[in-house]
Formats: sequence, structure tokens, C-alpha cells
Amino acid sequence: NLSERLDKIFRNLRGKGYLTEDNIKAGLREVRMALLEADVNFRIVKNFIAEVEKRALGVEVMKSLTPGQQVVKIVYEQLVNLMDTEGFQFKVFNNRLTKVMLVGLQGSGKTTACAKLAAFYRKKGIKPMLVACDVYRPAAVDQLKILGKQIGIPVVSEDTKNVLKIADSALSMADKEMVNLLIFDTAGRLHIDEPMMEEVARLKTHIKPDYIFFVADATTGQDAVTIAKEFYDKLAFDAVILTKLDGDARGGAALSIKAVTGKPVAFVGIGEKISDLEIFYPDRMASRILGMGDVLTLIEKAEEAIDMEAEEKLARKMLKNQFTLNDFLKQLQSIKKMGSLESIIRMIPGLGRKLPADLKIDDKALKHIEAIIQSMTEKEREHPEIINGSRRLRIAKGCGLSVTEVNRLLRQFEEMKKMLKKVNTPQGRKHIERMMG
Ligand code: GDP
Ligand code: MG
Repeated sequence: NLSERLDKIFRNLRGKGYLTEDNIKAGLREVRMALLEADVNFRIVKNFIAEVEKRALGVEVMKSLTPGQQVVKIVYEQLVNLMDTEGFQFKVFNNRLTKVMLVGLQGSGKTTACAKLAAFYRKKGIKPMLVACDVYRPAAVDQLKILGKQIGIPVVSEDTKNVLKIADSALSMADKEMVNLLIFDTAGRLHIDEPMMEEVARLKTHIKPDYIFFVADATTGQDAVTIAKEFYDKLAFDAVILTKLDGDARGGAALSIKAVTGKPVAFVGIGEKISDLEIFYPDRMASRILGMGDVLTLIEKAEEAIDMEAEEKLARKMLKNQFTLNDFLKQLQSIKKMGSLESIIRMIPGLGRKLPADLKIDDKALKHIEAIIQSMTEKEREHPEIINGSRRLRIAKGCGLSVTEVNRLLRQFEEMKKMLKKVNTPQGRKHIERMMG
């Protein structure tokens, strides 16, 4: 796993009071290996390492950082550069219809992403509509209809194989219904083939989309990148939706796609649920890759689900390290509203990356944690440090769970607090520097 590898390399570097050219080079050799093993495109790795080395050996010395920290900072910044989204911004126009088209191979997650995008923007007060232009598999149209029904967003479909006709009906329907955002799902094959590409190209010419998103399955690593390049050459898409990031332990696609296609990742899919879609932020991704957790995304998700004022208070407490088990309990209870529990847990600093990639967390775990905290006294919740052996036993009995489970929860809570303590600015960007101290 890339995060773990890098973490180890950096721990080594950080431990050194000063760095010589030799141990920088040795460290970067390991970074290079780690990136290659993470399935990052080899040419990108080569440039990346050259750039980091140039900067690390060069004059860029900041007094506040040790040389080891300096290297980590440079690697972080270069990772952010690699995934840079500058120059791209997805915007739904407010004075006219915004047309979006999703393209990609079969199984990459297009249909799911259409529904996720629609739901995501409807929450922002936008009126979306979906268009079923994958006419080759009857199941594809049904799938989109089912998703549309599930989230209460209309789906345009027609009993014809002529996608241009379907597009025309959708356009007039959108006009009639005063839709703001029209999302076209398209056909994909298992491999790129000419007729498919041509059909999608024809649809593009016909509807003149404002945005074309290439949907890529992150778990396919460099294959996704190669295919992205081919799609780009034919369709000149605007940005990428990288799906199944939840199942991608390596990060190769996320790190390579921009450098290879010139187009950034705009959104990521992090699970099968409709709510498992996020805007892509290179700095957060870089932090995640470097194993620093993802406080910003976590806070953003929370803001959506929880009432802002309570959340702000909580965030302040978290940052001041006055976060108690009571807060933790409240937080857990609102997590239920935030989508997949697993995706949230994975973002908790220091905790997420320790979880094995194939671990599945179901809501039972949440219920257990709730039960444990609810068996504690008010004082114990506010001051968990007083929870000694006999208290643990009593708590375990009270909730009908084992002492081991109580211990685990307390340990995780402590770990979370420790990590939060290091992130003492709400602008996670700056936390990196401190994290390295
Ligand atoms: P399409 O053929 O490109 O339209 O792909 P689908 O939208 O039908 O998705 C293929 C499969 O991938 C489905 O089982 C989806 O539930 C699953 N899927 C899509 N996005 C994600 C994601 O972000 N994470 C996970 N774990 N599964 C996803
Ligand atoms: Mg589909």
C-alpha cells in the first residue's frame, strides 16, 4: 500500500536530524519504488523524482523545518502538482441549460456516476434530469430508471436505438420542465471500439455538451490511464470522474491521469451508494496518499449532514483538542446521515489508513460504539482518562459487549484525538507543515 510505504520512508527521513545528499537519494529511490508499485506511470515517476530531487538538493531551505520534513513537504507539493485541477471548474449555468455527457468503458461506473452527480447537484438547489443513451443493453436503461426513481430525478428514455433522437426529446423535455442540468449516460463497451467511439462522437456533435466527463475505474490502475488517453484523443473530454476509489489501494490512476491526458480529475466515486461522490481536491488526495487522513473532506461531509452551528462548535472543540466521547457519540449519530460509514471512517486521520483495504464496516460497528458510549457515565464520557480496569468491566457489562471492544474504542478515540491535535488549523493545507514536526 502506497500510503504505508511512503509513511515508513518518511518516518525514516524525519528521524534524521540532518540529511546528506546520500540519504535524500536513498529515500527518493524508495519513493520511486513505492510509486512504481502503486502503478503510477513510469515516465511520470521519473519526472516526479527528478523534480523532487532537484528541489530537495537545491536551495529551498526553510528554517522552520528539518531537512527530513523539507523532503516530505516537497513530495507533498509535487503530488499536489501532479493532480492539479487548476483551470477546470465545473459550473452549472444559472441562465441556461448545462449539458453534461459521461463517457467511458462498460463497468467503469458511468450510470452510477450520472445518478450521483444529479443527486449531488440537486442538493445545491439545481434541477437535474437524466438521459438514457446507453441503448445497447436494455438493462442499462432500466438501471438508470431505477436509480432515477430511487432519488426522485426524472429519466428520459425512448424505445429506439437512435441516440440522437433520444437526445432531442431530452433537450425539449428539459426546456419544458425548466431543467438546469441535463446528464447524458452513454454506452460503453468492454474495450474501445470504433462504432462506439463514433456514436459517442456523433452524440457530442449533436448535443454540444458543456462538459464531457471521462469515467475511469481507479482499480484498473494504468489501464484506466491508457484508455483515458485514447478517449481523450477522440473526444477531448474536459475532466475525469474517478470511480471506485474506495477499492483502490494503490492510487496509480489518480496520480497519473492528469499528467497523461492533461485533464484533471473533477470528481471521485468512493462507494456504491448515491451519496458516495466527492469533488476531487488534489491537496486532500495527496494528504490521503501520504497517510495524513483527510480532515477537510470529513468536515465538508459533516457540514452537509449536520447543522452548521453545532458542527462549527464541534470543529472548534476538535481543533482545541477538547473533543470528548460525548461529541464522538453525537458525531457518530450524524454519520448515519453522511453516507457509507466505511468511507467516513477511512477519512479519520491515523485510523483510515490503518484499516485493511478489504475491510468492510457495517452499521453494526456503529451500533456497538454507540452502545459502549451510552453505558458510560457522563463523567467518563467527558474525561475518558478516568476509565480504569474496573470501569471498563462495568461498561462492557452494561452494553453486553466485551472488554476488548471497550478497549478498542477507547484506543481509537485516543488515536483520533492525538491526530486531531496535530491538525490545529481548519485550513488543512497548512497542517502539513506541522504534521511533519
Ligand atoms: P457503467 O457500465 O459504466 O454504467 O457502470 P455502472 O454505473 O453500471 O457501475 C458498474 C459497477 O460499479 C456497479 O456495480 C456499481 O455499483 C459499481 N460502482 C460504481 N461506482 C462505484 C464506486 O465509486 N465505488 C464502488 N465500490 N463501486 C462503484
Ligand atoms: Mg451504464
